[in-house]
Amino acid sequence: MPGEPQADCLFCKIVGGEVPATIVRETDTTLAFRDINPQAPTHVLVIPRVHHPDAASLAAAEPAVAADVLREAAEVAKDDKLDSFRIVFNTGSGAGQTVFHAHAHVLGGRGMQWPPG
Ligand code: C5P
Repeated sequence: MPGEPQADCLFCKIVGGEVPATIVRETDTTLAFRDINPQAPTHVLVIPRVHHPDAASLAAAEPAVAADVLREAAEVAKDDKLDSFRIVFNTGSGAGQTVFHAHAHVLGGRGMQWPPG
């Protein structure tokens, strides 16, 4: 069922406390934790507690929670005092998505290039 925890999902296990993570923010609907393999001085993942495979399916099924993810991403940037930052939703393996539980990457603290690789 969409939205239900998935036994084989790493981020559902982080939500459930079965896999450790360095959590920086929590709300009723979201969790934010430092990426285990940071690509910038600030690299935090914001995830919904509910399981949806990617940001697009989250937004379609639970738009209020998708908005919570975005709001929390901005709060992460504020907590880390970032004037500029990037919010990335890799969607699909061709775009680099490796964990199929919706998540926003919040990246900042260094200069960035456009277009991204
Ligand atoms: O967008 P993508 O699906 O590739 O992002 C998944 C992210 O989850 C990666 O940046 C990876 O480093 C991170 N990760 C993590 N903690 C884990 C496993 C993966 O922060 N235990």
